[in-house]
Amino acid sequence: MHHFDYIRGTLYAEGVSINEIAEAVGTPFYCYSSATLERHYNVFKSPFPADTLICYSVKANSNTSVIATLARQGAGADIVSVGELRRALAAGVPADRIVFSGVGKQPEELAEALDVGIYQFNVESEAELHALSDIADEKGVAAPVALRVNPDVDAKTHAKITTGRTQDKFGIPWAQAESLYALAGRLPGIQIVGIDVHIGSQITALDPFEAAFLRVVEMVGRLRKQGHDISRIDLGGGLGIPYKSGNTPPPHPDEYAALINRIVGDLKTQIIFEPGRLIAGNAGILVSRVIYTKENGERSFLILDAAMNDLIRPALYDAHHDIIAVDNSDPNLPLHTYDVVGPVCETADTFAKERALPPLKARDLVAFLSAGAYGAVQAGTYNTRPLIPEVLVRGDRFSVVRPRPSLDALLGLDVMAPWLEETAK
Ligand SMILES: *Cc1c(COP(=O)(O)O)cnc(C)c1O
Repeated sequence: MHHFDYIRGTLYAEGVSINEIAEAVGTPFYCYSSATLERHYNVFKSPFPADTLICYSVKANSNTSVIATLARQGAGADIVSVGELRRALAAGVPADRIVFSGVGKQPEELAEALDVGIYQFNVESEAELHALSDIADEKGVAAPVALRVNPDVDAKTHAKITTGRTQDKFGIPWAQAESLYALAGRLPGIQIVGIDVHIGSQITALDPFEAAFLRVVEMVGRLRKQGHDISRIDLGGGLGIPYKSGNTPPPHPDEYAALINRIVGDLKTQIIFEPGRLIAGNAGILVSRVIYTKENGERSFLILDAAMNDLIRPALYDAHHDIIAVDNSDPNLPLHTYDVVGPVCETADTFAKERALPPLKARDLVAFLSAGAYGAVQAGTYNTRPLIPEVLVRGDRFSVVRPRPSLDALLGLDVMAPWLEETAK
C-alpha cells in the first residue's frame, strides 16, 4: 500500500503532481512519501507488545529526512557504520534506540558507538567480541551485546541477499554460539543482553523465518540454563515487499507478526526488529525522462536519463521494478513493448526487457515503483553523472531533501597531483 496514484490521468505523490516536481527539480530524481513511510512503520509495529523496538535499517534509505520522519513515529535505527550512526543521531534517533550490526566494525566505530551510549552491539565474531571488550574495558564500561547467530537456514531469496546459511559471511556459526556466549560472560567489557538473527532480505515466505526463529528460541532456553541473561531477542529485518503487480504478494506484516508472537511470545524478552525494505521500499519512486526512442528493426528501446548508477538493483540482483508512465490520460491506448535502458556505456545498464508500456516519446516522464529502498543509497557517479536529487513529499508540500550537486562540485572532488601541475606550467 502506498501513496503514489493517478489523479485525472497524471501521477501524484500524495497531494503533489510528479510533473510539478519534475519541472522544479529536473530529472531524474527520487521521490519519497511521508505518509507511506509512516504507514509502513505503524502497520509493522502495531501487532507487537508496546515495549517492542523497531530499529529502522538505515542502510535501506539513509536520507536524514527519511530517518527523521520515522524517528518522529518512535522508530529506532539499525546501523552498520559510524557514518550511519551520525546520520541516525543527526536525524533525531536517540542513542538508546540504536543497534549496531555488521561483520566488520572497526575499533574507532566501536569506540564512538560506546561513547554515545547505543542500545546494543550485534556482535558477529569472536575477534569482534575481544575488540569490543578491550575498548569498553579501557573506558571502564561494559558494552551491551547480543550475539548475531547464524541459524543455517536458507532464506530462499536471491543469492546476493541471503545471509543465514553456514557458507555466508554473516553471524556466528551455530555450533560456536554457546562457547562464544560463555566467553562473552567472562570478558570484562561485555554485558550480555540478548541474541540476534537476520537471515536475509526480500524474503517472501514465512517458513524460513519460522525455521530460524524456532532454532533461536531453543538456543535462548539453553543459554538461560547456562546462566546468561537473555532479556532481548532481535529478529532482524528481511520481510519482502511486492515489486511486481500481479505476482502473489509476500506475507502481510500481520501474518509475520502472528508467527512471531506465537513463537517468541512466551520468552518474556523485549523484541527488536530491523526492517529496512519493508518500511522504505514502496515509499519511494524514481522519476526519469525519456531522452530518445530507438527502433532497431527487432526491438524498441526507450532510452532514459536515469541509469544503472542511479538505480543499480536491476543490474545487481536482476531486480524487477514496475515502470509506469507519469501521464496516462488515455489508459485504452494499445501498449507498446520496449527495452528500457539508461545512457551508461554498459550492457548491464538495462532496467527492463520487453516491457509493455503506453506509447512514449522523447521528454515523456516515467516512474519506477518500489524504488525507496536500496535505490539512492547504492547510487554512484559512474560516467561522471552527479548523484540525483531526493525529494520528500508530505501532503501537498514537497521538499528537496538532497539537492543535485553541480558538475563542478563533482569534478572538484578530485585533486591534481602536484607533479602534474608542475608540468602544466
Ligand atoms: C540489511 C539488513 C537489515 C534490513 O534488511 P531488509 O531486508 O531491508 O529488511 C536488517 N538487519 C541487518 C543486519 C541487515 O544487514
